Amino acid sequence: MSPLLHEVRPALTILGEHERMFQETVRDFALAEIAPRAGAMDEARAMDPELIAQLFQLGLMGIEIPEAHGGTGSSFFTSVLVVEELSRVDPAVGVLVDVQNTVVIKALLHWASQEQRERWLPRLAQDTVGAYALSEAGSGSDAFALATRATPDGDGWVLNGRKLWITNAKEAGLFVVFATVNPDLGYRGITAFLVEKGSEGLTVGKKEDKMGIRASSTCELLLDDVRVGPDHVLGDVGKGYKVAIETLNEGRIGIGAQMVGLAQGALDHTVKYVQEREQFGRAIGSFQAVQFELADMAAEIEAARLLVYNAARLKDAGEPFLGQAAMAKLFSSEVAQRVASRCIDLFGGYGLTRDYPVEKLYRDAKVGTIYEGTSNMQKQTIAKLLLK
Ligand SMILES: Cc1cc2nc3c(=O)[nH]c(=O)nc-3n(C[C@H](O)[C@H](O)[C@H](O)COP(=O)(O)OP(=O)(O)OC[C@H]3O[C@@H](n4cnc5c(N)ncnc54)[C@H](O)[C@@H]3O)c2cc1C
Repeated sequence: MSPLLHEVRPALTILGEHERMFQETVRDFALAEIAPRAGAMDEARAMDPELIAQLFQLGLMGIEIPEAHGGTGSSFFTSVLVVEELSRVDPAVGVLVDVQNTVVIKALLHWASQEQRERWLPRLAQDTVGAYALSEAGSGSDAFALATRATPDGDGWVLNGRKLWITNAKEAGLFVVFATVNPDLGYRGITAFLVEKGSEGLTVGKKEDKMGIRASSTCELLLDDVRVGPDHVLGDVGKGYKVAIETLNEGRIGIGAQMVGLAQGALDHTVKYVQEREQFGRAIGSFQAVQFELADMAAEIEAARLLVYNAARLKDAGEPFLGQAAMAKLFSSEVAQRVASRCIDLFGGYGLTRDYPVEKLYRDAKVGTIYEGTSNMQKQTIAKLLLK
């Protein structure tokens, strides 16, 4: 090829055969199985267990787990497509699948020993929900100020502490728990542990009563003298900060996908509504002011989607993606809030009622700027890269 010519790459939104198949399957599933349950699950503040079983059956709970371990053997980009499609219908289901794939499984794929992989990956692919327990009451953005202690006990460890905000905690069979083996070591004392549901001393505590993603469980996790063997350390002792940073760097692309899906879902409902709702003897969608609102929203969503897809494709290509992931999460979570809010406006008074799904999507959007690193934390990452 001439040195003046660059290799032409396909557009980010052109999907491979396998990716398209996944997208279509999940889209159909979400419309048929999730849409009819979303309102009731939100009201009940609970995920339908039958739905979780279906997510496992479809292979959506072990997307990147190799087929040899019973998983789907697919890419990170595929996980992003799946989270987007699920969140278009219900972001609470989107985050359940997101945490399972892009955080918990990711941590094991990167850091687990051969024995841990053989023990846990088949279960995570088949029937075990995972949760990721880093945050505490006193340590959120400053995650490595955590206070949960791991004290040596024979050749194993005893864990004591209280985790807060743990997504999937009610449903989880496996928890990735972060604790410090020595607070004087600062972040170098942080260690990740694999803790199984049913371990003595482990209790799932209060479930938060949230404004959005209400069907997704967010709970306290109490550890009172939980004994684990040395084979429960994920990665090396004192390397938990690396486990946390690396998994969350990728995981936040998944939250970007959740927010893109949410925004697209809100716009889909609104496009339909403005063609049905009549005022002044015409469909409100025939007013140019309304059309321009739709156009602005569509352009913002597409821009957010391109940021998310680009970050995910960079990740799969083994290229640096830290800044792109932070931008994708920052931008898409803000787009989701703006779009969901504008969609409520276009529904008028009906937008405030639970008769239409946009009210729920508006509530669900708020968390996007908070979890897996607040917007300020994403800006801090981007600025650090600019100023280094
Ligand atoms: C629904 C939900 C689910 C969650 N799921 C999980 C989970 O599964 N596992 C888990 O470990 N955690 C989880 N979290 C916790 C989440 O990651 C934290 O809430 C988040 O990191 C923010 O921490 P915080 O709530 O303590 O807020 P704080 O850190 O107290 O932040 C409060 C405000 O201060 C700002 N701020 C803080 N420090 C700075 C700074 N240096 N510069 C500028 N601004 C700053 C923040 O941007 C924010 O606006 C979840 C949270 C929610 C709400």
